[in-house]
Amino acid sequence: MFESLSERLGGVFDRLTKAGALTEADVITALREVRVALLEADVSLPVARDFIKRVQDKATGVAVTKSITPGQMVVKIVHDELIRVLAGDGEPDALKIDNPPATILMVGLQGSGKTTTTAKLAKRLKDRNGKRVLLASLDTNRPAAMEQLAILAAQVGVDSLPIVKGESAVQIAKRAKTQANLGGYDVLFLDTAGRLHIDEVLMDEVQAVRDIAAPRETLLVVDGLTGQDAVNVAAEFDGKVGISGVVLTRMDGDGRGGAALSMRAITGKPIRFVGLGEKMDALETFEAERVAGRILGMGDIVALVEKAQETFEAEQAERMAKRFAKGLFNMNDLRMQLEQMIKMGGMQGLMGMLPGMGKMQAAAAEAGLDDKMLKRQIALIQSMTKRERANPDLLQASRKKRIAAGAGLDVSDLNRLLKQHKQMADMMKKMGKGGMMKQALKQMM
Ligand code: GDP
Repeated sequence: MFESLSERLGGVFDRLTKAGALTEADVITALREVRVALLEADVSLPVARDFIKRVQDKATGVAVTKSITPGQMVVKIVHDELIRVLAGDGEPDALKIDNPPATILMVGLQGSGKTTTTAKLAKRLKDRNGKRVLLASLDTNRPAAMEQLAILAAQVGVDSLPIVKGESAVQIAKRAKTQANLGGYDVLFLDTAGRLHIDEVLMDEVQAVRDIAAPRETLLVVDGLTGQDAVNVAAEFDGKVGISGVVLTRMDGDGRGGAALSMRAITGKPIRFVGLGEKMDALETFEAERVAGRILGMGDIVALVEKAQETFEAEQAERMAKRFAKGLFNMNDLRMQLEQMIKMGGMQGLMGMLPGMGKMQAAAAEAGLDDKMLKRQIALIQSMTKRERANPDLLQASRKKRIAAGAGLDVSDLNRLLKQHKQMADMMKKMGKGGMMKQALKQMM
């Protein structure tokens, strides 16, 4: 479920997470795409607009945290906001079935999957919770519907109320309550008559049944494929009968999935379950975390961001390893190393990971190589021309003066950097020849 929304958002976030630093304009552009994606996924316009606005407000407020990029931040905020909307106030998703027999009223339009869902829920309660379940169909207009429920009940191994011709829905509800009490059932499902449209007469009937049955839960079953209509149906039913939760069916076939988001945002009612097929066990509890992950197509956002970084770093490390193995180590390599060191907690951290580098680690500590120092060294390298970086042997007095001045430092600082580079390059060469570097880097990765 949710494929196309996830693909769409995935594309947006690919661009976001790859960009190093995002301007506010980038965030706004990206969010515009998120909005289009939400609309395409059949999220209603006001919900999408509201959603984007909240994300934008939040993203703008925290735009300059040092440790993560704005792109990662936007992803995280979109993700958190999706969960917030989908999960609502975090109502417990377990059905209220204490005080047996607990009555669960099933309502919804004809063809929404109400009868199927009733049987699926009965199976679930029986199999997982060991509950004794009784099913009763109140669909007096369609004898076939009553028979269908009886067949499904037998199929999942629960009881169904014997069908008596000529009874009204309210009469059946009363008989079912009595039967549930006498028979020692834990849960009674009342499967109300389906209707093609919202219809006053049938709505009145559901109200009458509700008043007799005093249900612990009134679950609305809606076809997730109907998108915006499903949301309207939910609002209608909630206004007339009052619902305690929603079951979204056909989420196996839905390429869009925006209904879940709108449903939640507009009705404020929790989505308790999703139907994922015609089979009796194709029903899952609705989990906001998982659904948000699916909507984004990224599973766990944090894991994804980390993975993106890892991939990038692994590629970089591999490229470097190849150069080192050949004994190559120019100023660009040194710069990458220095940047890596800052990321990995300074010189100490990095050296500690390389076997055979203990001596250099001690030397680094002695030389007081801290982050400030590393940043100055990077500035010096940045101040070099492309040719100079590739071949530091070019650096004679006048070039040195220019480079140091460019970085706002002294020539002595540059000389120290060059000395350090030479030491490292020599070591790379030695290790490269013996194949030691390859081994060391292999261990590292
Ligand atoms: P009712 O009129 O609301 O009681 O609807 P039914 O329970 O009779 O379901 C109508 C059709 O939808 C049946 O063919 C079911 O097998 C099918 N159906 C129900 N739920 C799902 C679902 O989650 N996924 C899919 N693919 N089909 C479903």
